[in-house]
Amino acid sequence: MTSKRVKVGIMGGTFDPIHYGHLVTAEGARYTFGLDQVLFLPAGRPPHKRNTQVTDSEHRYMMTVLATLTNPYFEVSRLEIDRKGTSYTIDTLRILREQYGPEAELFFITGADAIFDISSWKNSDECLELAHFVAATRPGFSLEDLPESTQQWVAKHQERFHILRVPAMAISSTEVRERVRQGSSIRYLVPEPVEHYIRRQHLYAEPLP
Ligand code: ATP
Ligand code: MG
Repeated sequence: MTSKRVKVGIMGGTFDPIHYGHLVTAEGARYTFGLDQVLFLPAGRPPHKRNTQVTDSEHRYMMTVLATLTNPYFEVSRLEIDRKGTSYTIDTLRILREQYGPEAELFFITGADAIFDISSWKNSDECLELAHFVAATRPGFSLEDLPESTQQWVAKHQERFHILRVPAMAISSTEVRERVRQGSSIRYLVPEPVEHYIRRQHLYAEPLP
């Protein structure tokens, strides 16, 4: 009997809040690479956002669940939010590799902006041994303009590094938060249940200090 290798997508993010740019990227990766599952991992305290205010992780977790509910391939993991301190990609990938076993194929999915400084990530070479990397196109971040060090890193790991073209969604969580603060519309930028949740919990309504 031959068993098929399970393919798992890993979509990390702050998801503050989750929006259609995240969802279209995850679905693009699922379809393109024939993934059996895409795991969304809301970050605990992201290392690159240590000095900025991030919404309580339970709210971010809940919005991610609401946004992914209707896609049978999508699941949300509490792995990073339940861990104390910051989770580096390498830590998460090691744990997921343990959980899914040596046969599983892991695909770490990011937007173009997230890989700009990838060569300086903690244990970046080992990250690539543990998972394929998928860099999705994102408006405003050109994959042609990667810094020299990143280009060299990508060239070295060509076989495990994939560029994924996804429908351009010029949306960011920053803009969604800003729009809520200003009282302007976020309809069609985030799934309806996420908008309802934001309104009901009065998220992002406070003016910035
Ligand atoms: P913020 O403005 O708070 O940084 P964000 O919109 O960048 O929020 P993150 O949670 O930081 O969202 O991003 C999670 C992942 O999703 C990152 O890999 C990021 O590059 C990717 N991503 C976010 N928005 C898009 C988009 N519109 N298109 C493609 N990828 C995206
Ligand atoms: Mg971001």
